[in-house]
Amino acid sequence: MSKIAIFPGSFDPFTKGHEDIVLRGLQLFDKIYVAIGHNSQKHNRYFDIDEMVELIQQTFRDTPNVEVIVYNELTAELAKKLNAQYLLRGLRNTTDFEYENSIAQVNRYLNHGLESVFLITTPGLAHISSTIIREVHKYGGDVEKFLPYKL
Ligand code: ADP
Repeated sequence: MSKIAIFPGSFDPFTKGHEDIVLRGLQLFDKIYVAIGHNSQKHNRYFDIDEMVELIQQTFRDTPNVEVIVYNELTAELAKKLNAQYLLRGLRNTTDFEYENSIAQVNRYLNHGLESVFLITTPGLAHISSTIIREVHKYGGDVEKFLPYKL
């Protein structure tokens, strides 16, 4: 049976840290869905959702087993629909761990067949966060070196 994983997140924006998790995840899974969680009723993103889909697609244009999707439901339900057995997530520090620990428990309660798999960040990418990139970008700073594509 092929191993299908979902890499869920806000990806506002998708960073080199995220790219690294996907590329390493490809050693483990046959297919990875990069799934952007988005509530279309709440327009609270900084980067446009359609533009972000295109930029992530462009990042993985030579990798057919990566697919980019947008979803607006429980991740555990999305996994059932996509026949995904795994959730892929990245861990940078203990703050990530505390948060990831609770959502992994909830997701497994909601979907018993779903295993969360965590990859520890690559040291040189551990400092990259979407939140900081948004702040720097908002005040006109250069964020290109944190992103796997050109804005
Ligand atoms: P969310 O809004 O669900 O936290 P994010 O888009 O911020 O989603 O991140 C998605 C996943 O990528 C999370 O598991 C997060 O811990 C992980 N991640 C974010 N930045 C990095 C990084 N620099 N290195 C490794 N993992 C990361």
